[in-house]
Amino acid sequence: MSPQLLIDISALLASFLFIYGLKRMSSPVTARSGIVVAGWGMAIATLAAFLYYFGVSEAAKPHLTVNTALAVIALTVGVSWAWWSGKKVAMTSMPQMVALYNGMGGGAAAAIGAVELLKTGGHHGPLPLVVTIIGSLIGAISLAGSLIAWAKLDGRINGTWRIKGQQLLNGTVFLATLALGLVIVFGYHGHAPAALTGLFFALALVFGVLMTMPIGGADMPVVISLYNAFTGLAVGFEGYVLQNPALMIAGMVVGSAGTLLTLLMAKAMNRSVANVIFSNFGPSSDEVQGEIKGSQKPAEAGDAAINMRYASKVIIAPGYGLAVAQAQHKLFEFVKLLTDAGVEVKFAIHPVAGRMPGHMNVLLAEAGVPYDMIYDMEDVNGEFKEADVAIVIGANDTVNPAARTNKSSPIYGMPILNVDQAKQVYVVKRGQGKGYSGVENELFFADNCNLVYGDAQKVMVAMIQAVKSLDGGH
Ligand code: NDP
Repeated sequence: MSPQLLIDISALLASFLFIYGLKRMSSPVTARSGIVVAGWGMAIATLAAFLYYFGVSEAAKPHLTVNTALAVIALTVGVSWAWWSGKKVAMTSMPQMVALYNGMGGGAAAAIGAVELLKTGGHHGPLPLVVTIIGSLIGAISLAGSLIAWAKLDGRINGTWRIKGQQLLNGTVFLATLALGLVIVFGYHGHAPAALTGLFFALALVFGVLMTMPIGGADMPVVISLYNAFTGLAVGFEGYVLQNPALMIAGMVVGSAGTLLTLLMAKAMNRSVANVIFSNFGPSSDEVQGEIKGSQKPAEAGDAAINMRYASKVIIAPGYGLAVAQAQHKLFEFVKLLTDAGVEVKFAIHPVAGRMPGHMNVLLAEAGVPYDMIYDMEDVNGEFKEADVAIVIGANDTVNPAARTNKSSPIYGMPILNVDQAKQVYVVKRGQGKGYSGVENELFFADNCNLVYGDAQKVMVAMIQAVKSLDGGH
C-alpha cells in the first residue's frame, strides 16, 4: 500500500469516527463511549497529519520545510498538558476548560492561516486566499473571545464592560479588519508585507475582545457555543487551505453542531443571536434592581425534609450550586428515601442551568439518577402547580420570576422553571449570594417560599438524617 493511500484511508477513518462519536453523544446512555470513539478519531487524524507533513507524502513536499524535532516537542507538550489538566480539572471548572480548549482550536486555525499568508513563494489562487483570510479572521476572533469567556467564567473578569459608543467602535474595528483582509487578498495577492498581515491578526484579536467584553450574565451560554461554532468553521476553512480532508470534516462537524447548539441555546433564552451579540448595552444589573417587598423566611433542613416525606409530589430544580457543593450523590440518596416512601419525585432541568450546556444532566447521571426521572423544562413546567413542594438546590437565575415581569432585568424574556407555582417552595443556598447574572431574586421573598441556608451537601445530609430518624433509621 502506498503511503499516500494509507494517509487517505486514515483521514476517512478519522472522519467516520468523529461523526459516529458525535452521534453517540446524542444520548446520555452512549455519550461516554462517544467521547472515546471521537478521541480515537483525533489520535488517528493527528498521526495521519504527522505522516503527511513529515516525509511520507509526496504531495506534502512542496508545502513546507519541516522541523520534525519541533513538531515532536509540540505534540508531547500538548498531549501531556491536556492529559494532566483533563485528569485534575474539577467538575465546576469544566466550562472554563472547554472555553480555553475551544479558544485554542480557533488559535490553531488562525496560526495555520498566518503561516500560509506569511509563506513566501506560495502559489495562491484568489479562492484559497479568500478562504485563508476568512478562516484566520474567524479563528482569531474565536481565540480572543474564548479567552475573555474563560476569564469571565473563572471569575477573573467580573461583570460586563461597556464604554460609550461601543457599537461604533466595534463596527469600525471589524470593518478595518475586513478591509485589511481584502487588501491582502486583492492588493498583494497573498504577498503582503509581514507587518500588514500582523496588523490584520492584531485587529481581529482586538475585535474578539471588544465583542465579548460587554456580554455577560445570562447570555454567556450563547456566546460560548457561538465561539464553538466559529472555531469549527475556522478549522474547516483552514482544512481546505491545507487540503486535509480530516480537518475539513472535523471542522464542519464542529461548526454545524456548534451552530445548532447556539440556535438552541438562544431559543432557550428567548433571544435572537444578534440580540445577544449587539444589544447588551442596557443598564447593568445593579442599576435595574428595584425594591423587593417581603422578607426571606428561613427554614430548618429537617422540617423541610419531613414536609417532603409526607408530600405526594416533589419537583427538584437543580442549579450551579449543586455542582459547587458536589451534592448530587447525597441528593439522590435523599430522593430514594422519598420515592421509597411513595412520593412522586421529578427533576426539572433548565437548559442553561449550571455553567455549561447539559451541566445538570452530567451531574445527575454521575450520581446514577435514572433518566426517566429527569425532565426538560418545557415537559415539566406545567406540573409545578400540582406539586406540593418544589425544592430549588443551588439554582437562582433559572428560577427568577423577574425574567417574566421585569422588562429592565438582564434576564428578562428568558423562560424560567415555574417553581413559584408549587404550593411550597424551599430554596437551598448558603447565604445572600446572587446568581450568575447578579440580580436579586424576588422568589426568595415570596409568601410560599422558605430558605434552607447552608452548603447543599450539608443540607442534604441533614435532610437524609431527618427522614431516616422519622422512618426508624431504615
Ligand atoms: P446561578 O448561577 O443563577 O445561582 C447559583 C446559586 O447557587 C447562587 O444563588 C448561590 O447562592 C448558590 N450556591 C453556590 N454554591 C452553593 C453551595 N455550595 N451550596 C448551596 N448553594 C450554593 O445558577 P443557575 O443554575 O440557576 O443559573 C445558571 C446561570 O449561569 C444562568 O444565568 C446562565 O445563563 C449562566 N451560565 C450558564 C451557562 C450554561 O451553559 N449553562 C454558561 C455560562 C453562564 P449562595 O452564594 O447564597 O450559596
